[in-house]
Amino acid sequence: MSSRNCWGVDIGGSTAVVGRMDRDGSFRLADVLDTGPCRQPGDVLKSIAEVIRRSDPSPAAVGVGVAGLVDPGRGFLSFSPNLPLWNGTHISTMLSRFLGGAPVFVDNDCNVFAIGGLHRGDIPAEGLWLFITLGTGIGGAIISDGRLTYGTGTAGEFGHMTIREGGRMCTCGLRGCWERYAAREALMSYYDRRTEPKMIATRARKGDAKAIAAFSEYGRWLGRGMANLAKCLAPRGFFLGGGLSGCYRLYRKHARQEYESRCPNAWNVSVLDDTSTAGAFGAAAMASGKC
Ligand SMILES: [Zn+2]
Repeated sequence: MSSRNCWGVDIGGSTAVVGRMDRDGSFRLADVLDTGPCRQPGDVLKSIAEVIRRSDPSPAAVGVGVAGLVDPGRGFLSFSPNLPLWNGTHISTMLSRFLGGAPVFVDNDCNVFAIGGLHRGDIPAEGLWLFITLGTGIGGAIISDGRLTYGTGTAGEFGHMTIREGGRMCTCGLRGCWERYAAREALMSYYDRRTEPKMIATRARKGDAKAIAAFSEYGRWLGRGMANLAKCLAPRGFFLGGGLSGCYRLYRKHARQEYESRCPNAWNVSVLDDTSTAGAFGAAAMASGKC
């Protein structure tokens, strides 16, 4: 690793979290910026560069995680349902220019989260593991012997595998994708379509039968998709992250039952700590691994 600091940025649909990884490996939050649906990528990237340069005029490298289809080799975001103005943005080229030429590495937000998990030692560096984020959508990463697997570029888009032919319409333009059945909106649809997942969880914990049933249905769809993945890839186990991983206990039983009824692979599932800086930390870890 260079003697200079690496930075990490996590760009999501409403905010961009920016932080620095110090030479001793500790991570400090620097700022949280608004990304909003109307903000142009150039403006946001310029603001990010200003935050970094204010305390570090010459960063060693910057890692960026962003929700969407990313070509890590080119630092190019081709499609992001949550950041429509960013479709077709050369993030690494633009941000590097605002940073006076510092190297910038870009990857999918779920991949950088997984890199952070590897860096901390939460995800083992041996064997094949699958990481799944459960939030607005479903993100995925395939980790093989401590490295991410990209296939021809975008491996791990688990959320968009078809789980029901002709099913619910997805933000990707197709029907029946897994994330329409096992992400945030799906859980809400199993309840009353209006109540936020946090509130449904609170009610389920208090014994509300309808809320418990919503989580049971959610768990069944989750377990069904995980069984498909296990049959294809036979991983040693799964790690879960994202907002809905926080209420894993509420759907674990049904997810496991569904999974075990569909595949012979052992149910080995752990939840990774999901903090507001986990993505930016992973992005900084990715940058530090490359310089
Ligand atoms: Zn889809």
